[in-house]
Amino acid sequence: MNLTIYNTLSRKKEKFVPINKNHVGMYVCGPTVYGSPHLGHARPAITFDVVFRYLQHLGYKVRYVRNITDAGHLENDADEGEDKIAKKAVLEKLEPMEIVQKYTLEYHSSLELLNCLSPSIEPRATGHVIEQIQMVKKMIVNGFAYEQNGSVYLDVTKYNKRYPYGILSGRKIDDTLEGTRELHNQSEKKNSVDFAIWKKADKNHIMRWSSPWGEGFPGWHLECSAMSAKYLGKTFDIHGGGMDLIFPHHENEIAQSRCANNSKIFAKYWVHNAFITLSNEKMAKSQGNILKIKDFRDKISGQVIRLALMTAHYRQPLDWNDKLISDCQNTLDKWYRIKSSDIKSVKVTEEILKPLYEDLNTPGYIANLHNLYEKATKGQNKELFISACNFIGLLDEDNKQWEKYKKDKALLSEKEINNKIALRNKARENKDYKEADKIRDELLDKGVLIEDKDGKTLWKFK
Ligand SMILES: [Zn+2]
Repeated sequence: MNLTIYNTLSRKKEKFVPINKNHVGMYVCGPTVYGSPHLGHARPAITFDVVFRYLQHLGYKVRYVRNITDAGHLENDADEGEDKIAKKAVLEKLEPMEIVQKYTLEYHSSLELLNCLSPSIEPRATGHVIEQIQMVKKMIVNGFAYEQNGSVYLDVTKYNKRYPYGILSGRKIDDTLEGTRELHNQSEKKNSVDFAIWKKADKNHIMRWSSPWGEGFPGWHLECSAMSAKYLGKTFDIHGGGMDLIFPHHENEIAQSRCANNSKIFAKYWVHNAFITLSNEKMAKSQGNILKIKDFRDKISGQVIRLALMTAHYRQPLDWNDKLISDCQNTLDKWYRIKSSDIKSVKVTEEILKPLYEDLNTPGYIANLHNLYEKATKGQNKELFISACNFIGLLDEDNKQWEKYKKDKALLSEKEINNKIALRNKARENKDYKEADKIRDELLDKGVLIEDKDGKTLWKFK
């Protein structure tokens, strides 16, 4: 099967060829755990969950690494300002590590609700400070970084002479200089475009570690360079995340990895998902329109959120609105009715999977599911329909949400409907018409219309 994926680095769709035959290394930037996970976190989680699933289906041994940022991420994603986690700790009157624990658990339970598979490794920045310090040392030795008052900066101008800076984002170093000059007038950097790879901790900074440059903490971008190298090697296949991470985060990850490892290629394929808008408005904390995943609990099923997030192509913005939710809810209500406990799983054909292999075209795949559903309602290939839904984490056998969903929606599976009809026929044979009518009314209550015709009982959904 020909697998293609859009590579932000080349700005075109490319054929996917892993660096090592049969193995794929995939690194995805995870959350900074200082607040409740929201829909913006759900989109990359689901996008790369589907990639993880189909790569494994293709027989690759996939190592999927998704980090937890629990230190070093400063306000406004900049070099200056307060640590996001420490700031939240003061607000909530907790230890920074209590904040980290609280929101890491919430992130995990949200992703469980969305039926995302766990990554192979979920490393944390605070667990890899030694590796990060080692990497800073290498960058200094290689002549690309310099120390200033206990902080260490990557010399972007020097780096740019050897490797082009802006290779991923398309930003030219001069444009970046223009944009930052005013902000860093008093900076200790040689050039305002330089960025911190290690920051000196001032006396109020809680999360701090000893280093050759005094007490400090790693720069935000550093952990991903250090942890991807540790678990996937200096060069690996796929690096993913939201489009908002392209600059500066991913651009700087590339610079650090090249400076430390002298490696030409850091990640071979860069894959980025687009944003979510809310009724066509940008979703942002500053706008106050962030939708937290935990707030959906008991209102809509995680399966509805999952399906809704797959209805747009991952590189297109997805608009979250009431119509999208009710459409997905109705679709799942219909689809769930085909499901019964004794449906066997079968191999999903390559023809059906094709859209997923073509730059992860989930809308195309969902269109295939609709076609399969139409056939399944006529009794054809029900197993294939359910298995194809399972493939992208819908209507999953292991999914505990099914029982809950069925209860909430008072849905009956086909098997249960046929059992009820058999009971009604038995009652009619015994001339117990009261019982027979009771069963008919019960079915009607659950949206099932029955009709007796030529000695047979036919049924359909209202
Ligand atoms: Zn990252």
